[in-house]
Amino acid sequence: MTLTLTLTPLPAFDDNYLWLLDNGREALVVDPGDALAVATALDARRLTLAGILLTHHHADHVGGVDALRNRLQGPIYAPAHEKMPEPVTRVRGGDTVELLGLRFAVLDVPGHTAGHIAYFAASVPAELSNGDPLLFCGDTLFSGGCGRLFEGTPAQMHASLQSLAALPAQTRVCCAHEYTLSNLRFAREVDPANPALAAYADWCEAERAASRPTLPGRIGTERQINPFLRCAEPALREAARRHAPLKLPAAPSPVDVFATLREWKNGFR
Ligand SMILES: [Zn+2]
Ligand SMILES: [Zn+2]
Repeated sequence: MTLTLTLTPLPAFDDNYLWLLDNGREALVVDPGDALAVATALDARRLTLAGILLTHHHADHVGGVDALRNRLQGPIYAPAHEKMPEPVTRVRGGDTVELLGLRFAVLDVPGHTAGHIAYFAASVPAELSNGDPLLFCGDTLFSGGCGRLFEGTPAQMHASLQSLAALPAQTRVCCAHEYTLSNLRFAREVDPANPALAAYADWCEAERAASRPTLPGRIGTERQINPFLRCAEPALREAARRHAPLKLPAAPSPVDVFATLREWKNGFR
């Protein structure tokens, strides 16, 4: 009998998604900040918990780990360089981990936190999202935006985001928060003449109005609409220069543009 894989965003707290991937018998969960949300979903579908993937140390991503240990029948993979609820199996960029028959490449994506990692499955069975690759990126890349720089530099975060932007266009992006609409308000402020962005914002508003997640996104869409992936584009460069004319040189680098946009977004309401 073939097992069909299903990907489900479990809502938690105000705007987190805990991503659950299951084959009808076993499941893995990414960043279980809330144990109850995971336990309820596992029980409702009679799934055993075969593994946990952790992207970074923030409480809304690891807070449920200890309470899930008694039902866990597999590994907990976690970033090599962050404080974690022990014991865990430490992984870093270049490693691969296998769960539910999927191979995930571990990517180092510092910036939001110093040791943040992401998990990328290049080869996915056809019944799961047409076989499109899967990315669990925690709080690094959001649809239309990116994570705040709590521990990293703009240059680090820019490089991390560029490495994610270089993944195949059809990659499904499983972000850890439903921040899309507020991100798109900022994106339209800084990139108002982008027709792909306007069309995507309309679609996302309809999804949220119907109480559906805007996620998972797609890398190809993010390349077109996400200002933080588009810092080399003239339109974004000009927006950054208009916003911070005294701080930026006449020919700002993409990292300069990224740093300006990130700071601008921090104060944007
Ligand atoms: Zn975080
Ligand atoms: Zn978070």
